[in-house]
Amino acid sequence: KRKNRLSAQEYIDGVLQGNRVILSRAITIIESNLDSDKILAKEIIQSILPHSGRSIRIGITGVPGVGKSTFIEAFGKHLTSLGHKVAILSIDPSSQRSKGSILGDKTRMEELSNNKNAYIRPSSTGDTLGGVANKTGETMLLCEASGYDVILVETVGVGQSETAVHGMTDFFLLLMLAGAGDELQGIKKGIMEMADMVVINKADGDNVKNSEMARLQYQNALHIFPQPESGWTPVVTKASSTKNTGIDTVWEQVLKYKALIDQNGYFLENRNQQNIKWMYNNINEELKHLFYGSPEIKSKLSALEHDVVSSHISPVKAAQSIMESFKKIR
Ligand code: GDP
Repeated sequence: KRKNRLSAQEYIDGVLQGNRVILSRAITIIESNLDSDKILAKEIIQSILPHSGRSIRIGITGVPGVGKSTFIEAFGKHLTSLGHKVAILSIDPSSQRSKGSILGDKTRMEELSNNKNAYIRPSSTGDTLGGVANKTGETMLLCEASGYDVILVETVGVGQSETAVHGMTDFFLLLMLAGAGDELQGIKKGIMEMADMVVINKADGDNVKNSEMARLQYQNALHIFPQPESGWTPVVTKASSTKNTGIDTVWEQVLKYKALIDQNGYFLENRNQQNIKWMYNNINEELKHLFYGSPEIKSKLSALEHDVVSSHISPVKAAQSIMESFKKIR
């Protein structure tokens, strides 16, 4: 499939030197499901690991249409103007099901995609959200090792992927609109609760007054939630991604947050906890793969389904019996 396959060392050197072509190719290896690529991927990740981690990882979510791409374009340009190197990754559960990914569109973030200090990588595809999240996590490590000091992980605010993004980032940003209730915006309470910052986007033109009202409402709403473990009090601000207002405030708040959690120890503590969870997620993924990928298990399972449907065996007994078979195969 790939001609001129590089050696592990060539990938490692290229990534560490900030070579974007090699970075992209290394990410493709990470995303690959070929066994030989998996071995290579492990070697690359293991070697770059000591060079990773030195970034602030920001999760960004909000329903489609809230202005995520436009915001990230403005925010990314602001960050690069300050001398930062920004990597933009995405987790898009829709790309698992269909080829048409909501976030994968190449026309998004046009200016940023031509900026040499910004690196944009659309969501990888995979069978499970856990698998996609694992790969995005490793992609993040590669980007850090390649010198990107701000990582933006974007997700569509419609489902499970927010928790996955929250679980791999330091700061969680929720974009909202004025004039629509949370229900209307499809944002669940649990997602609000994860937010370190809520930005009311499209606060421009006729919408400024409403946005200020929404800002106050959300600020009050956030007070109802228990204070986050980080010791940070979530803030609500307004911004216009098209008029480029309030964008600098977002970065100021991120820096304020980072200073706080560096000082109170939460930054490290949280990353350690995230790594432990990441390990378990990986184990779970591997176990599932091992189990459901086994041909013996597959055929036994379809037989068992019949037995369960015809009440020849109880669901619990069926599960026990298949686990017994699995132990024997191992
Ligand atoms: P996404 O689906 O969340 O990525 O949203 P997009 O960034 O594609 O934005 C959806 C639409 O909202 C586009 O037509 C944007 O031009 C528009 N939009 C985004 N941000 C703003 C803003 O700050 N103000 C106004 N007036 N429109 C915006």
